Amino acid sequence: MERRHPLQTHSWADDDISQQVTQDGEIIFYRRCARCGRDFMRPDSGTGWHAAYVGVVRIEPLADSVTRQWVTEDCPGRLLTNDCRSRTTRQNRSLRENGGRRHMTVKRC
Ligand SMILES: [Zn+2]
Repeated sequence: MERRHPLQTHSWADDDISQQVTQDGEIIFYRRCARCGRDFMRPDSGTGWHAAYVGVVRIEPLADSVTRQWVTEDCPGRLLTNDCRSRTTRQNRSLRENGGRRHMTVKRC
């Protein structure tokens, strides 16, 4: 029996579909294992999969209706398709009115 490649032993979130972001003008694919939480990235330039840290660079509030739902519901225990739609309700309003900053840089450990 042929041994699987170690990367094929992970349990990828999102049904084995790589997420895609554009960072510094370059397309980067990334994926996270739902079991061990390891993140991996693959630059579109084709240098293979790298271990990665996925940092949060910006936090945006969603629509008030989504907030009302999410803060009053128990954890659904799984990813919900509806939540993906909810995430498209990002608001463009600035958080400065609350003294917050719209763009945040998170310290890395
Ligand atoms: Zn894993």
